[in-house]
Amino acid sequence: MSLWRDIKGTLQPFWITLCKMLSRPVTVQYPEQKQQMTPRYRGRLMLTRDPDGQERCVACHLCSAACPVDCISMQATEAEDGRRYAAWFRINFTRCIFCGLCTEACPTLAIQVTGEFELAGRDPLKLVWEKEDLLVDHGGHDPDYNFYRQAGIAVAAPRGANPTESPPVDPKGLLP
Ligand code: SF4
Ligand code: SF4
Repeated sequence: MSLWRDIKGTLQPFWITLCKMLSRPVTVQYPEQKQQMTPRYRGRLMLTRDPDGQERCVACHLCSAACPVDCISMQATEAEDGRRYAAWFRINFTRCIFCGLCTEACPTLAIQVTGEFELAGRDPLKLVWEKEDLLVDHGGHDPDYNFYRQAGIAVAAPRGANPTESPPVDPKGLLP
């Protein structure tokens, strides 16, 4: 019985090697051949635009608050029509761990992952990407979403003066 087990144990690896030799290889000749990454792969980040071509980012800082390594920074500013945007937006890819938490936190779907993974370099400063480097001309994975069509830009009238709104309650008037 133990002889049979030894023979089997010797022949089985040869059989597995033979099968692998005859099967299709899974390796690719990188970098000449590039692998197509899966749709959910978390690579380099980008800043996308809404269907009107406007920047989606409203500089709410939620992505930087969610980032576990503090590699996102920005400065918020406001356009004349009340629309917020980032005057500058910076991601330090030397620190980014590509966890995707910033994309989960973003309410406007502005920050999204790409399938790009070739970020290695010798100069760390080249891995600090500014808004001009990050901003793309499309909507990324969800091109039809427009945050401002859902949330509006500003309240048109004071509280209580809009057509379907009740006047605000004065809490002091509720005191006994
Ligand atoms: S992917 Fe993760 S580490 Fe990179 S910027 Fe987003 S939250 Fe930070
Ligand atoms: S990318 Fe998204 S979460 Fe980050 S500041 Fe802009 S809107 Fe807010």
